[in-house]
Amino acid sequence: MEARSAKIREWLLTEVAPQSNRCEDNQQMPDAILRRLAELGLTGACVPAAYGGLAADSLTLGAWSALLARANCSLLSIFVVHAMLAQALARFGDETQKQALLPLLAEGRLRGAFALTEPEIGSDASAIACSARRVAGAASGFVLNGRKKWISGACYADLFMVLARLENEEGTSEGVVALLVPAATPGLTVTPMRNLLGFRAAGIAELSFEHCLIPARLPFQGAPAALLGPIGGGFSFVASHALDTGRFVVGWAGVGVMEGCLEAAAAYARERVQFGQALRKHQLILEMIADMATDLAAARALAEKAARDREAAGPDSILSVTMSKYFSSRASVRVAASALQLHGGNGCAAEFPLQRYFRDSKILEIIEGSSQMQQLMISSAALTRGRRTKSGKSAGKSDGQNA
Ligand SMILES: Cc1cc2nc3c(=O)[nH]c(=O)nc-3n(C[C@H](O)[C@H](O)[C@H](O)COP(=O)(O)OP(=O)(O)OC[C@H]3O[C@@H](n4cnc5c(N)ncnc54)[C@H](O)[C@@H]3O)c2cc1C
Repeated sequence: MEARSAKIREWLLTEVAPQSNRCEDNQQMPDAILRRLAELGLTGACVPAAYGGLAADSLTLGAWSALLARANCSLLSIFVVHAMLAQALARFGDETQKQALLPLLAEGRLRGAFALTEPEIGSDASAIACSARRVAGAASGFVLNGRKKWISGACYADLFMVLARLENEEGTSEGVVALLVPAATPGLTVTPMRNLLGFRAAGIAELSFEHCLIPARLPFQGAPAALLGPIGGGFSFVASHALDTGRFVVGWAGVGVMEGCLEAAAAYARERVQFGQALRKHQLILEMIADMATDLAAARALAEKAARDREAAGPDSILSVTMSKYFSSRASVRVAASALQLHGGNGCAAEFPLQRYFRDSKILEIIEGSSQMQQLMISSAALTRGRRTKSGKSAGKSDGQNA
């Protein structure tokens, strides 16, 4: 794995990063980059080895995520939604689904994306409105109606994991389901969202399902079922599991963005001379660098703790991941703003990465659950823990007790 990580690092920092501003301007990820992502095995990062993937451990997944974000947040975003689909499939898929789809996902011959958010449904994602109904007879399967919005990687995807509310014939909800929907399904329209703040090359799109008939058996080798996981468990099990991976990756992405910012800031502070001396000799600049370095170190420590807790699969894992995502995304906004400020006018220029980091870091605070959603989860866990500690039930328990 070490040799692979070295190759990935080399490719991302020397080949991808220099193209990143251009990718954002063109609002398109070059095919060659997407192909190389697969050749280097990154599309199989979250696929078990038995199905042709790398089954990367959490620290390795985190390190790759940091490198991807440092090089190009759009690519990180394409990577993470694919990984979320693959991981949910590995966890909740039946054997036929896994055998048919996971090897294709691992090789990057199928590109995946994750469709939860809707025009009217964001943070309160359990209130999904997109509807699925069973279709009986020869064309058995599901018919989907509704819209999804902000779906990363959608313009490049072959397969979506779509969260929908299953309704019976009377229109009564049977709960949320996760459905596997091929991009080529008639009735599904993918409309790119252009000129966004950042992540412009991530192929973000709106999806519209109009009487979109998903066959019960999908048109892939081995004809896997379209339904992933249990009826009623689409959100609470399948999507939640995927979102936990998404948050974990975003925690590390913030680390990568901060590394890129700090490296650029340190180089600029050494080279740029004002008032007769390099910026690094000015104390106010040193204060900025000290704060940036401290934010980075704290975010890295939380991300590493999240990785350890995920590997241990203990009760602290979800809270650790939440804290890492929360702190790291907010810290990356601070660090990107400071690094840009330190570059003065050049921070706004196309030749430097700072304007891109500045825009993309803000997005890290919104995706996979906004900072406010993380605050609700963290505070709820802290209050529960406080109550338990007071009653003596869990005194002595380490931090990160889950609610
Ligand atoms: C670049 C980008 C890529 C994305 N990619 C995907 C993707 O691949 N798949 C996908 O499904 N979704 C994706 N999303 C959607 C993203 O997950 C949502 O934007 C996010 O969950 C917030 O939902 P919302 O935008 O509807 O905001 P809302 O839920 O409408 O919230 C608006 C504001 O109110 C705050 N708020 C809401 N409820 C509360 C509360 N109870 N207490 C306090 N504050 C509250 C929020 O934090 C936010 O600041 C993406 C979004 C962006 C911007």
